[in-house]
Formats: sequence, structure tokens, C-alpha cells
Amino acid sequence: MIPVNEPLLNGREKELLAECIDTGWVSSDGPFVRMFERHFADYIGTKHGIAVCNGTAALETALFAAGVGKGDEVIMPTFTIVSCLVATLRLGAIPVLVDVEPVTWGMDVGQVASRLTPRTKAIMPVHMYGHPVDMDPVLALARDRGLVVVEDAAQVHGAEYKGRKCGSLGHVSAWSFYANKIVTTGEGGMVLTSDDAMAERAASYRNLCFRADRRFYHTEFGYNFRMSNLQGALGVAQVERIEEFVTIKRRVGHLYRARLAAIPGVRFQVEEAWAKCVYWMYCIELDTELGFKADDARRALAERGIGTRPFFLGLHEQPAAHDIGLFNGERYPVAERIARQGLYLPSGLTITEEQVETVTTELADVVSALSMIHSAPSS
Ligand SMILES: *Cc1c(COP(=O)(O)O)cnc(C)c1O
Repeated sequence: MIPVNEPLLNGREKELLAECIDTGWVSSDGPFVRMFERHFADYIGTKHGIAVCNGTAALETALFAAGVGKGDEVIMPTFTIVSCLVATLRLGAIPVLVDVEPVTWGMDVGQVASRLTPRTKAIMPVHMYGHPVDMDPVLALARDRGLVVVEDAAQVHGAEYKGRKCGSLGHVSAWSFYANKIVTTGEGGMVLTSDDAMAERAASYRNLCFRADRRFYHTEFGYNFRMSNLQGALGVAQVERIEEFVTIKRRVGHLYRARLAAIPGVRFQVEEAWAKCVYWMYCIELDTELGFKADDARRALAERGIGTRPFFLGLHEQPAAHDIGLFNGERYPVAERIARQGLYLPSGLTITEEQVETVTTELADVVSALSMIHSAPSS
């Protein structure tokens, strides 16, 4: 079986974890959390890093830090993980959707202006599958209208937009270090910002909004979203190798691109001239004209020992959202198409060139076999 992802943990991870155990520093008070925050913020280019327990918590903390609260509207792409939606809802804010554009599958920034209302507070671009969103129009709009920009950067560790790192472009960004992300702490997340006040609010929110002047007195509610020193130790060891990880991801991306170009009906994310894509996962979209869906291809690939994952189903197609009166009757054609025609291929940091070749050979075979079945005339 070629797995869809495997983390690479053969640097100083074991050594630093052992240090946590030997010294007894296992809670969030240990030194590795602060070290990880510093190293990661320095790498991305922000003044502050606030580590939290996962990426979903990072999104909620980032929105809170940005001042998003009850009744505020947050504009986000429908094609994203449910975390963006639940983080918004937990703060009493209202999600407002736009579609994604068909080349990079990132937020269609051209649609954002049409969704603005007097209640709009924030725009949340989600950099998708390693490729940056076209940020200049988003930042210009936010500047004009006095909005905050909260980047979901969970899939773009090391990616660049016009020479600047994703996650340093908006007011605040949210990161995940889940096991399939480019940098992992098993579970984990971080909020990055260069704004002192936002950093302070984020740090407060992850720690139950304890006040420095009067500890068990609360003027706001927060949560316990703290990261442990054990996770921090993994993070420090991982960030030491981030450039190497980015190089591996880009090499795998280029290998796939070269080999997939020969398969008819298969399209892939194209790196824009202004982007440095880190190919978090190598994703493909099967042309609707092929006559079959991503799930058909995924089943056939699984039979051949190749792990894949489906694309996100748009937020506007989620029954749990409809149940609370959200997005009923809304349509976003690009998101709806790619949700059914997209999948991602094995692209972990441990994948070999031979495995990429096997995957693409099997994929070509599966595509031709399935198109034959699905184009057979019915009698
Ligand atoms: C992984 C991911 C998250 C959530 O991160 P968790 O650590 O799993 O909570 C948020 N947004 C995007 C785009 C992601 O890919």
C-alpha cells in the first residue's frame, strides 16, 4: 500500500521529546512551546506566534484576536474544511460564502466585493492545497473597508505570494500542525500576527482569558487551547528542517506534474506566476467528460494499493449547516464540481520517485479502464 501521507520524524524529535520527559516539563509551561513559537514566527516573518492545541482552535483564536464577535459577518470560500465554519459560529459570527476559482481552487477573490454588507468584519482566505490565494485584491478591499484579513494557512507552510510568505500577508493567520501537514506536532496549531494587541488577545483566549492582574476574575471567556511542551518539542525539531520539507514537497509536485500531463482528462493545480506553491497534497480533478467521479477512481486505486483522499464538500452542501438555517438554496458551481471530481494522491514527505511513478502509471490505467466502462453505449 502506498499511503496518502506519512510524517517524517527522523530529525531531533526523539531527542527533544526525551528531554521533556527527563526534565518533567510536559505541560504548556515548558520551554519548547515558546521556542517553537519564536522559530516558526521568525520563519514566516511575523512578530508573534501563539501556539494552540490544533488548527481549528487556531482559527477560532485568530478570529477572536481580530475582534470578530456576535453578529459579525466573515467572508470565506465554501470549498474548505468545516473548521472555518465552526470557528466562526462558536464566536456568534455569521459565515458568508464565495466560490473558489477553477485553476488553483482557492477563494474566488473577485466575488468577495459582492458579498460585503455593513456587518462584514473579516475576510478569511484559505490557501488551498499548498497554493496561495491571490491576496492583493483581498488586502486592498480590506484596507478600503476597514476589514480584518484572517488567513487560513493550514496547508501552506513555506508557500509564498509575490515573494512574501503566506501567513504574514493578512492581519493574523491560523496554522495547523496535524500529522498530515507540512510541519507536524501530531496535533497542534498556531496563530501568527505582527499586531501586539491581537497577539495579546490570542494568548488570553487560549488560556481561558485569565487576567494578569486578577487571575480568577473573568471579563471575557476563553478556552483551554494550550499546546503541551511535548508538542512544542516536536515543533522545534520539525521547524529546523522546514526548508528541506518544502524542497521535498516541491520536487514531488513537479514529478507528478510532469507525469500527469500525459493523462487525458486529468487536470491539476497550476502554479501561478506570482506564487510559490508547496504542494501540500498533490491534487487532481477528473474531467466531467470522462463520465465517472472521483469516488469511482478512488475505489479502483485502493484496489491497486494506492491511498487517496476525497476533496472537501462545500460548506453550503453540509446538512448540519442547513439544519441551522445556513446556505439553503445557495449554489457554488466550481466547488460543487471539484467536490465530486477531485481527489488527492499520495504525497507525504517519505514518498519515493518510484512510488510517484507507480501512482501515475496506475492512475493512467484506472482512468482509461473507467472511461471505457462509462463511455460504453447503453442498449
Ligand atoms: C487541517 C486544516 C485545518 C484544521 O486543522 P486541525 O489541526 O485538524 O484542527 C484548518 N484549515 C485547513 C485549510 C486545514 O487543512
